[in-house]
Amino acid sequence: MLNLLTFDVEEWFQANYPSTASTSKVEVDERLEVNVRGLLDLCAEHQARATFFILGRTAERHPRLVPLIQEKGHEIASHGYEHILVYEQTPESFGADLRKSLDVLGGISRQSVLGYRAPSWSVNTRLPWFYDILESYGLAYDSSLFPARTFLYGDNRARRFPHCIGNLIEIPASTVSLFGLRIPFASGFFFRLFPGFIIRLGIRALNRRGQPAMICLHPREIDVCSPKLKLPRKERFIHYVNIKTARNKLAGLLASFSFCSIQDYLSLEAYRNL
Ligand SMILES: [Zn+2]
Repeated sequence: MLNLLTFDVEEWFQANYPSTASTSKVEVDERLEVNVRGLLDLCAEHQARATFFILGRTAERHPRLVPLIQEKGHEIASHGYEHILVYEQTPESFGADLRKSLDVLGGISRQSVLGYRAPSWSVNTRLPWFYDILESYGLAYDSSLFPARTFLYGDNRARRFPHCIGNLIEIPASTVSLFGLRIPFASGFFFRLFPGFIIRLGIRALNRRGQPAMICLHPREIDVCSPKLKLPRKERFIHYVNIKTARNKLAGLLASFSFCSIQDYLSLEAYRNL
């Protein structure tokens, strides 16, 4: 059974906590390329392919990044251009941001971009225009729904498994359901928080239902040397807990399960039963 491996490629200071006013620093993240190379090496070691959702501004600041990822056979997808929460934008400003990111990524990669992931899972079931705009720009899938309510994001009413919305396919973040509670286990903070054996249990639970699990991480989440944002205590815990162990945990999972990009997954027959 194939599972999905995804990375959101942005700089270390990109964060959308209510307490952080602005994230548009002008400095260049000197650790980013090193961290992406680390992830590419890990993927090569375990014959895993991944989808890299890349921020348009980051692709511009680091022109070697997209070709580097592409050369290794991974998928290039869009994480928007400026890392602005989708539900804080108008349909017009969201469309303009998406278009700018697609122009940048398409220009560098010389390939059509098929997928989008919103900054900080900032999509919910109350944004009827969101999918129309993705479709109007020729995208084939979205991976922005977080189907569990958390401190920062998520929507308990969202569907838990890949499904069609119009002509698009939505690939939500992975959750397990326990006593009626939806528990995320494979993305960002939750990936770092839970020990490897819990994540394995989660992956196996989804695979038993014929569903892929999806890992979602940022390059900074495997980097103990990443510069630190000044954050209040709760946000600091969410942003930095267990970074030390994340790389090894990921390596262990890549050794135990098979992973592919979302594009690979959609090219298989599996999704046609959605
Ligand atoms: Zn992001």
